[in-house]
Parts: sequence; C-alpha cells; structure tokens
Amino acid sequence: MDFSFTKEQERLRQEVRDFLETKVTDGEFQVKSNGWVESHSQKFSKDMSRRGWIGMTWPKEYGGHNQSYIDRAIVMEEMLTYQAPIGFHFLADRQVGPAIIHFGNDEQKKTYLPKIINADISIAIGLSEPNAGSDLVSVKTTAMEQGDFYIINGQKVWTTGGHRADYIWCLVRTDLNAPKHKALSEFIVDVKTPGITVRPIINMAGVHSFNEIFFEDVKVPKENLVGPKNRGFYQLMAQVDYERAGLERLMQNYPLFKNLVEYAKKEKRNGNPLSKDPFIRNKLAELEVEYQVGRLFCYQVAWTLSQGRIPNYEAALCKAFCTQFEQRLSDAATRVLGLYGQLMPGSKYAPMDGDAADSYLWSVSYTIQGGTLEVLKNIVATRGLGLPVAKS
Ligand SMILES: Cc1cc2nc3c(=O)[nH]c(=O)nc-3n(C[C@H](O)[C@H](O)[C@H](O)COP(=O)(O)OP(=O)(O)OC[C@H]3O[C@@H](n4cnc5c(N)ncnc54)[C@H](O)[C@@H]3O)c2cc1C
Repeated sequence: MDFSFTKEQERLRQEVRDFLETKVTDGEFQVKSNGWVESHSQKFSKDMSRRGWIGMTWPKEYGGHNQSYIDRAIVMEEMLTYQAPIGFHFLADRQVGPAIIHFGNDEQKKTYLPKIINADISIAIGLSEPNAGSDLVSVKTTAMEQGDFYIINGQKVWTTGGHRADYIWCLVRTDLNAPKHKALSEFIVDVKTPGITVRPIINMAGVHSFNEIFFEDVKVPKENLVGPKNRGFYQLMAQVDYERAGLERLMQNYPLFKNLVEYAKKEKRNGNPLSKDPFIRNKLAELEVEYQVGRLFCYQVAWTLSQGRIPNYEAALCKAFCTQFEQRLSDAATRVLGLYGQLMPGSKYAPMDGDAADSYLWSVSYTIQGGTLEVLKNIVATRGLGLPVAKS
C-alpha cells in the first residue's frame, strides 16, 4: 500500500496553494471557518475553471479533465485549508455533474456539463422537505405530466444556496399510486420559472445559507427529467454517497484548528504558557490524531471512487467520523479559550475574531447535513457489520 502522492500531484498541490496565497494577499477573500459555505463568487469559480479545477474527474468529451479523484481531493484539501469561496460551483461539481454523467441523456450532458465546468451556472440541491429528510422516499412534492411539460407543486426546505442558484436539482413524486420507492423522479429546474418562490432561513450562526423553496404550478419541460421516470429513488441512492464522501466533511472549521494551535503556542494564562498546560496539550494532540485519521478516511473514499466504485460503506464511515471530529474541535476550542470562547465575531475581546463561538454554532449542523449521524451509523451497522435492519 502506497500512501505517497506522485510528483505531479505534489506539483498540483503547490500550484493550488500558490493560487490561493495570491488571492488572499490580494484581499479577494479571508481565511475563516465555514467560509466556503458562506461565500459564493462566480469570479473565483471562473478562475478555478480556467485552471481546470472544476469537472476534474469528468470525461474530456464534455469539457472535463479525466483526472483522478485523488487529484480532485488534493485541490479540495487546499481550497478547504483556505476556506476559499467555492460555493458557486461546488454542489454542481460534487454531485449534480456526476449524476448527469451517470443518468442524464446525451442532450443533457451537452447542455449542462460544459456550463458547470465553465462556472456559468450554479445549481442547488432540492431533496429535503418538511416531512422528508432522512426518509427521502416520503417526498410529497409532485410533478404531474401535462402535454410536453410536468407541473410541479410542493415545497423543499434547507436548500443550500437556493437564493443564488440558477437551477435546482429536484426530487419529486411522479406517481401517486405506485410504491413510494418506484414513484420518484429527478428534475433539473430553472429557478426563474414562474411559480417558484425562494424564502430565506437564517441559521443559528446568523447566516443566510439555506432556504425554503415553494413550487406552485411550476411548468417544467419534459426534457428536464433526468433519467427514466420513477427511477429517481434508485438514482439518488448512488448520488448521496458523493455528497457524504469529501474532505469538506472534515475541514469545514479547519482554520479554527490551525489558529487554536497557534494561540496555544503564543498565549499565557496566569503567567503560564497555554502550550504547557497538560489539559490543553492533551486536547490538541487528541484532535490531531483524529484529524489525521479523518484525512485518511477521506482519501480512502477518493481512492475508492478512483477504482470506479461508489463508496457507500466507506462514505458512511468517513462522514460519521469526520463530522464528529469537527464538532469536537469546536467544543475543544471553546473550552481551551474559557469564557472568551463564547465571544462572537466583532467583539474586540474575542480571540481569533470569535471563530470558536461562531464555529460552535455552525457545528451543530455538521452531523445533520447530507445524512445524519444516526442514519450513517445504521449504514455502518447493516452494510459494514452485517447487523439486521432495525424496524421501528
Ligand atoms: C446546514 C444544512 C444544509 C443542508 N442543505 C441541504 C440542501 O442543500 N439540500 C437538501 O435537500 N437538504 C439539505 N439539508 C437537509 C438535510 O439533508 C436534512 O436535514 C437531513 O437529511 C435530516 O433530515 P431532517 O432534518 O428531516 O431530520 P429527520 O430525518 O426528521 O431526523 C430527525 C432525527 O431522527 C433521526 N433519524 C431519522 N431517521 C432515522 C433512522 N432510520 N434511524 C435512526 N435515527 C433516525 C435523525 O438522525 C435525526 O436525529 C441541509 C441540512 C443542514 C443542517
């Protein structure tokens, strides 16, 4: 087993790092935990596109670069280290593009893939509904055939970036009589279509990152159905593993980790360096152990994808472990900083500009988004350990 990167991969990493250093020096963005989710810059995405860092693993015939998932993971690791503003293209690059490659027809591939790669369009994911999150098979939003169109009615919720997206990737019910898992389909829907209303939801950290989206008699051309009608649930089962697998599940608050270590090296409490406090040293070392384990999980998932396999069990292991690491990091930071750890960004007394408190509020969502911890543990229990499915 070889854990080293090739010379080309090391060069790629350095190239990305240099690119990001220049952007930070030019003041294009600030390095800050959760920055990649909060920020959204088409200009930045276009700069990445010009360097070939969007659609890296996709076939060349659609403008992709046919590179390995390890190469993509390297680019992502650097982007996340700096928390670069990749929100414009990220969801389309991570999961919509691969879904179109797997399930879309030729026309759809020619239409959407080059636009994603060139950062011309931004796409949000509309799966969850008020009564369907973990249990996506229960979605109630309907799409009924009418001539050359489908008419969509219903509601999506928690749609990240929906207020800035050009399209929403939607899971909807297309058959009211068939068994649930044989009644769903996937559509790509233009957000400007009449009948769509996007309403903001402000998260606990005070940021508008997700939304409610309402559909009222929204007329969508039939050619926007991706894959066969009523096969949406089966398509989705393959797609969610892309969503669970990446380094973004480990590194959403990575700057906090780096800054916390530096803080402990520099600061003193009651005249004693924090770096010599046994509790703090132990905490930081523990976090480093967990971070390195999480990083290996993420690269294992990238390697699995490189082998042409969908990482189901591996993605569940990875996200279950990594998101808990992120939460433990936020928790540890507030403990190391003591009462100062509760001060929010903007307070002149807040160490690290309030990143600890801010990250703590964000971190609650880490084990919910893209598959909850409990659901992931169920996957590990059944598909990993061969335990029976628990019926409630
Ligand atoms: C920050 C953030 C961003 C998001 N972005 C998007 C997005 O862009 N697009 C989108 O479609 N959705 C998005 N979501 C929604 C997310 O995917 C759902 O919140 C998630 O799937 C859980 O669904 P739910 O909230 O309905 O909770 P539920 O599924 O109702 O779960 C409630 C609780 O029950 C537990 N539970 C549920 N089923 C089981 C089970 N079988 N066994 C054991 N325990 C179970 C869960 O673990 C949880 O603790 C986002 C969520 C967050 C927090």
